[in-house]
Amino acid sequence: MPNLHCNTEFIDDKQIWKLIDNAKEKPVDSSVILGAIKDVENGGTLSIDMVANILECSDPAVEEALFAASKTVKKGIYGNRIVLFAPLYISNYCVNSCSYCGYNCRNNLARKRLTMEEIAQEVRILEDMGHKRLAIEAGEDPTYCPIEYILDAIDTIYHTARSNGVIRRVNVNIAATTVDEYKLLKKAGIGTYVLFQETYHRDTYRRVHPRGPKHDYDWHLLAMDRAMRGGIDDVGLGVLFGLYDYRYELLAMLHHAYHLEDAFGVGPHTVSVPRLKAASGVSLAEYPYLVSDHQLKKVVALLRLALPYTGIIISTRETPQLRGELLELGISQVSGGSRTDVGGYQQGHEDTAQFELGDHRTLDEVIFDLLQRGYLPSFCTACYRQGRTGDRFMQLAKTGQIQNVCHPNALCTLQEYLSDYASPATKELGTKFIEKELAQLTNLRLRHRIQDCLVSIEQGQRDIYW
Ligand code: SF4
Ligand code: SF4
Repeated sequence: MPNLHCNTEFIDDKQIWKLIDNAKEKPVDSSVILGAIKDVENGGTLSIDMVANILECSDPAVEEALFAASKTVKKGIYGNRIVLFAPLYISNYCVNSCSYCGYNCRNNLARKRLTMEEIAQEVRILEDMGHKRLAIEAGEDPTYCPIEYILDAIDTIYHTARSNGVIRRVNVNIAATTVDEYKLLKKAGIGTYVLFQETYHRDTYRRVHPRGPKHDYDWHLLAMDRAMRGGIDDVGLGVLFGLYDYRYELLAMLHHAYHLEDAFGVGPHTVSVPRLKAASGVSLAEYPYLVSDHQLKKVVALLRLALPYTGIIISTRETPQLRGELLELGISQVSGGSRTDVGGYQQGHEDTAQFELGDHRTLDEVIFDLLQRGYLPSFCTACYRQGRTGDRFMQLAKTGQIQNVCHPNALCTLQEYLSDYASPATKELGTKFIEKELAQLTNLRLRHRIQDCLVSIEQGQRDIYW
């Protein structure tokens, strides 16, 4: 039986500070940094040393090159596609006392756990919006929210369909657990297992998680190792930016990603970059490390160059304007029309939300905005259904072959959205958008194949995927 409380050396506090201090005390010449950025544009990957150097560099030419390169890399790998999803909060019972979270057990808040019928009702509403991909969110509570409840919820979601609405991929963001429970999640057919480390800085971690099982830094840090051992090969990392020095967090998250790649042959499927937000009982005045919009843009651009094949997710914590700017720099997945309170899609409250939202638009408004900005909204869920997960997915991503399926899938799922859910204005804009995308395809055979699929969708066929 392996000792699960060892092998956390991949987050080495001294080494991370050494990277930051070296970059500050012995700055690398801008010309060297610009050369490294150029290499990435030509298909390389930004090293962690170079990430540290760029974080410390104040030369505007470097920053300009960083943002330009992140746009080039983003476009080269992800094209203009943006994948959409929605969170589904099913229980806010929690035995932890995370100081930054409205759900912490010291907060006097109405606790609720959805029944399976209530979950089905939330799902129907999300399906009626047009969503196909959900992320389950729940607090940690072995009594009110055991693994059996989560498994029932997954089963309920997959079996709740209305009209053409169906959820095709359920990602799960629940507390760190055991290998055996990860095996159960895998068996239940989840997509990605998502767990944010919140902060990689040990002392800060202990301070902001004063009690409850989440207080155990090592148990939390090694959750992704256990998930991988349980057979889940798509995992999503994240940091809650604002708890500690953002430079430290970014470098540590990269170490975590490298560790997974070394140990399991595949790095994270996604990374998330949420920023600390005010919530019930949470005042931002108590947090000295808040991250500015500009710093967040740098984080996203650096992640895009350091982990080119890892999806980067931005949630509705951020405003529409900032989300729009971050899309260019590297974001590949966004949530839309989200509620972050339990039962929020039915009730529409926000007073029991986990945190404050910055983007209150409907999904249709988000889609319209994406189209207007020249992005192709995608509800694609094909990969995990086709067994393209873990290292198989990464292989296809790294060779660029994945694009052969991403683009047709994005067009097909957008066509489904336009046929079933879009407002007249979005339908008109989306239809023209699809025509333009098709016209740009120089491979005529492929263009005709996609056109055939789109016609089938217009005639009523659903769930065509490549
Ligand atoms: Fe509970 Fe998660 Fe909130 Fe912590 S962050 S209090 S574990 S719901
Ligand atoms: Fe994602 Fe795979 Fe669909 Fe591409 S084909 S959008 S990688 S699920």
